[in-house]
Amino acid sequence: MLNVLVLLLLMPPSSPAGALSSDWSIPARFKSKTVVGRMKGFPEKIVALTFDDGPDRRNTPMVLDALKRRGQKATFFLIGEQVAANAELVRRMAAEGHAIGNHSWSHPYRLSNAEGLRQIQRCDAAIRQAIGRTSACFRSPGGFTNNGIANAARSLGLPNFLWMVSSADTRRIGPSAIARNVTRSLHPGDIVLMHDGPGHRETALAVPAILAEMDRKGYRSVTVPELCRAWDRWLTKKGVRTGIKPRATTAPSPKPGIRSVRRRQSGLGPYSPVEAEVTQRVRHECQHDLASSVGR
Ligand SMILES: [Zn+2]
Repeated sequence: MLNVLVLLLLMPPSSPAGALSSDWSIPARFKSKTVVGRMKGFPEKIVALTFDDGPDRRNTPMVLDALKRRGQKATFFLIGEQVAANAELVRRMAAEGHAIGNHSWSHPYRLSNAEGLRQIQRCDAAIRQAIGRTSACFRSPGGFTNNGIANAARSLGLPNFLWMVSSADTRRIGPSAIARNVTRSLHPGDIVLMHDGPGHRETALAVPAILAEMDRKGYRSVTVPELCRAWDRWLTKKGVRTGIKPRATTAPSPKPGIRSVRRRQSGLGPYSPVEAEVTQRVRHECQHDLASSVGR
């Protein structure tokens, strides 16, 4: 009897059926890569809406309700220390077909590689505790690609998914400005940065308008893993070989510029000719994120 009880306590919480049915697999070529540039010429009107820094008991349910009403899927990059208190919301995300990503344990910017590794592992453990599974989706806090946590992600083989479109919702702008920022610069295949964490009520309020405008323009939102697979289906159709053997993942690549060099070596070409511009924008967002997150 006691043995049975111990066994039950050791078992992970049972996953909702939906959590098991959604496919979070990401093509191997994304291993250890930083994904940031636009996929130029991608024809399918799909994008990946992403929400960072949650779950939050006020904002996240509003976002989930809006997505559910429109039948759209998103990706939530979660902060580990908020997962345990909101495990029910994490289960709901998975059950409703959204993808879940690792956004560190406590959102640090300056840390050693060893601390970065612990941040990722603790968040991963919290997600597994909540839903019994996790994904290879990772986004470094603040979008930094040159600190201990970004290095740790690379060493673990995790792709670091940044964004091509920012809602600029860390600037404390209203819902209509957030919605405009997202919908006016949307291109097929884009990853969109938003936040559903504490204090981001404006974003939660903007989501219904964003989804309505996307619908009007013929766009739908899929999860980040699904978007990666769609990119590769398209590239394969174009005759681009995507079954690249992943490079060694143990060596961190702290040198700026190494990402595009690697992509060229892989025969795929850069993600986009406007990468420099996008990278510039990301850098700006990072600095802004850093400035606006003081005290987080
Ligand atoms: Zn964040």
